[in-house]
Amino acid sequence: FSTSAAVEEPISPSVNIENTQLLIDGAFVDAASGKTFSTIDPRTGEIIAHVAEGNQEDVNRAVLAARRAFDNGPWPKMIPYERSCVLLRFADLLEKHRPELASIETWDSGKPYKQAADIEIPMVIRLMRYYAGWADKIHGLTVPSDGQYHAQTLHEPIGVAGQIIPWNFPLLIFAWKIGPALACGNTVVLKTAEQTPLSALYAARLLHEAGLPPGVLNVISGFGPTVGAALCSHMDIDKLAFTGSTETGKNVLGLAAKSNLKPVTLELGGKSPFIICGDADIDKAVEVAHLAVFFNQGQCCCAGSRTFVHESVYDEFVEKAKARAMKRVIGDPFRQDVEQGPQIDSKQFEKIMTYIRSGIESGAKLESGGEQLGSKGFYVQPTVFSDVQDDMLIAKDEIFGPVQSILKYKDLNEVIERANKSHYGLAAGVFTQSIDTANTLTRALRVGSVWVNCYAVFDAAIPFGGYKMSGHGRERGIYSLRNYLQVKAVVQPLKDPAW
Ligand code: ADP
Repeated sequence: FSTSAAVEEPISPSVNIENTQLLIDGAFVDAASGKTFSTIDPRTGEIIAHVAEGNQEDVNRAVLAARRAFDNGPWPKMIPYERSCVLLRFADLLEKHRPELASIETWDSGKPYKQAADIEIPMVIRLMRYYAGWADKIHGLTVPSDGQYHAQTLHEPIGVAGQIIPWNFPLLIFAWKIGPALACGNTVVLKTAEQTPLSALYAARLLHEAGLPPGVLNVISGFGPTVGAALCSHMDIDKLAFTGSTETGKNVLGLAAKSNLKPVTLELGGKSPFIICGDADIDKAVEVAHLAVFFNQGQCCCAGSRTFVHESVYDEFVEKAKARAMKRVIGDPFRQDVEQGPQIDSKQFEKIMTYIRSGIESGAKLESGGEQLGSKGFYVQPTVFSDVQDDMLIAKDEIFGPVQSILKYKDLNEVIERANKSHYGLAAGVFTQSIDTANTLTRALRVGSVWVNCYAVFDAAIPFGGYKMSGHGRERGIYSLRNYLQVKAVVQPLKDPAW
């Protein structure tokens, strides 16, 4: 491993943190309680900023503003082309402020700056332009009816959307949530994750500079059991969208059901299989399987975290996967050459180290890594286990860290059964040169995304979401619009049935 950077003095981010208050009704304001919480730098554990800590009262204020903005307009009633123009201007501003946004994202989350600036923020910009394009293309149908009636459907925004996002892709998931909701004419109250409140506040300010009317997007920083639960239980929120852990997803759904039965979309955890067949291009499979697990410090819901390898190529694959992990450059995420920064916080760090110990204790073979890197911050060595068995915790649980678990298999039916034997069903990777094998696997795997000879290809237009306990509904693409629209049937008698 490149161990030097983690113990060096951290590089200073070139950005000032300006927006730390709550955003309610178009203005930055203190929390009703006056309280703040600190957001920390995962490289050092030191405080970056004190951020206003919302509570139930702030959620009520924000929902009131969003309700007014929905009921009185102008947003839902605006000419759709004008909504589109606001979102396009927002995308332009994101482009202009890409360096500051990437600095904030790296500072608050620990992800490599290059990844934030060159991959994620361009995806955010692309996605906003994609949904801006949809704003004026949403329409219903004229429907044949049995009697002499003119029947049509109107596609209307649902109303006030509550949105709760996690810390692993703060700005990207912010965009996945607000893009379709706003394009369809809804208003929003969004809760950021308590670990990463900063980038969404900055972006929300830019969105107002782009011409978003007050109250259309409200951003409340704070904690799950207070702000999050208040959103889920609120009687005046019409729709809820959540991304986070499966455990919290169950709470969210329960609170929505107990309050006003608001519809909920959930994007939850995973333990995605990555299947390498005997005929695969091994060097390419090693690299893609490596990125499938280690990208973003392993903190991806769709991480390909069960690496199934055919017995005929198993030994070669393990050797090469280990060599690749040993070469991974880990250190200060502001360094241009760094591939892996620190984990988000001490809680996640401890959880990952507990799983690594459990892997060793349960008899998996530790090929590389397994230790903290340096003594400051939350850096974990890229860790590879071979000889992993299906019943080990490291093969069953979502670790959310840089830990690759390699399992051996013999034949296709066996690997299909083992891959599907999970409560999760978010994604899968398949590496093979055979079209027939690829077709069999893509149809047999019970997951929301299958990537063949590639992994985690994300595009604004490609839907994403889970089977089983990985979630409800799909985000991105045309599918996300459905989450934010009501269909109203309108029926009128025809005056002159002859025509
Ligand atoms: P993690 O454990 O990785 O932080 P969570 O699913 O708990 O994942 O967090 C994702 C988001 O859900 C965060 O914004 C968090 O504050 C929020 N959250 C946590 N608990 C609750 C809850 N009981 N109700 C609503 N939101 C919650």
